[in-house]
Amino acid sequence: MSTKLGGEFCLVCGAEPPLYGDRMCEPCIRKRVKLVEVPENIPWIRCARCGIVEIQGKWVQIEEKEIWDELIQRHVQFHKDAENVGLGLETRTVSDRHTMLYLQVSGTVEGLAFTEEHTMRARMANGVCLTCTRRAGNYFEATVQLRSTGRKLSEDEYTALRATLDKVLEDMADDPMFFITSEGPVTGGYDIVLGSKGLARTWGRHLVKEYGGQVAESNTIAGRKDGVDVTRLTLLYRKPGYDIGDVLRWRDNFWRPASWTKEGAIMSRIDRQERTGASWRDLESANVATQMKDQAVVDLITQDASVGEFLDPSTWQMTSVRLPWDHEKKRQARVTRIEGEWLALHHLGCDDEDGAQS
Ligand SMILES: [Zn+2]
Ligand SMILES: [Zn+2]
Repeated sequence: MSTKLGGEFCLVCGAEPPLYGDRMCEPCIRKRVKLVEVPENIPWIRCARCGIVEIQGKWVQIEEKEIWDELIQRHVQFHKDAENVGLGLETRTVSDRHTMLYLQVSGTVEGLAFTEEHTMRARMANGVCLTCTRRAGNYFEATVQLRSTGRKLSEDEYTALRATLDKVLEDMADDPMFFITSEGPVTGGYDIVLGSKGLARTWGRHLVKEYGGQVAESNTIAGRKDGVDVTRLTLLYRKPGYDIGDVLRWRDNFWRPASWTKEGAIMSRIDRQERTGASWRDLESANVATQMKDQAVVDLITQDASVGEFLDPSTWQMTSVRLPWDHEKKRQARVTRIEGEWLALHHLGCDDEDGAQS
């Protein structure tokens, strides 16, 4: 072997330049440098109940393809000087727990191009996520009681109210406590038991914004944990069972809600000209006599100063009714039947938009 004095040579085998890295020839550096370190087996955990995946101690909802990307990112170690790194992945499902990941990696180290092929086995273990653990233990923090004032709501109406919870859940950030422990109809309403007070309150605000009415909160102490009281929240939401234009029996008279206010409604009295603001609380004693959809708009066949006659749309019999205080001779009459008696209604702005009956 002829080595020129003072000349550069491979520190390992004495070969002549070109040399790379810590003064090694290409064959020597290739023997020593590994582009990536890949473990043979990598474990991961999937919740056996709901299917979400644990990534670095956090339970997350991710697609299968993303699981492999996550595992590679966490477990495949590239050489610290690697540049221009490329990675190709193919997977093969071996069993419902085992998946082979075939990696094709390329990159440069010390100016030399490397390509390597590796195989990893991803091994899934069953676990139970925090949410499912709590759910299984019937854990709950809050109960939301859906109720109504003014009239009983139909099953469809409760279904619609309940559906807004799904919407609220969709719009909120993922949280392991955002789950429903139990739910179902109860006498006079519907109850939903939730894992999170925050979720209950957010939904409550949503209901008020969407349907009016009000929410009342109460707390009970369920016990003590680590020296702190554990409280449970009961959130009672009362949806008004009435709408603008309905006829309500309230304070011994008939009224129609004319418009909503921030705290309730402007009520317009039927038997004489009178308007008053009422809060949701005031209106808790109100009962719906007829809804707008039960009212009819009829032509008056005869009329004098106080009484008009029309054909009862259900029997086609001539029927008389006391005319409303604001009656105009040329206007049709809006009538509604309450406990067998016809009542003519004064005019509200909402009547103009309600074309259905005329
Ligand atoms: Zn060498
Ligand atoms: Zn789970």
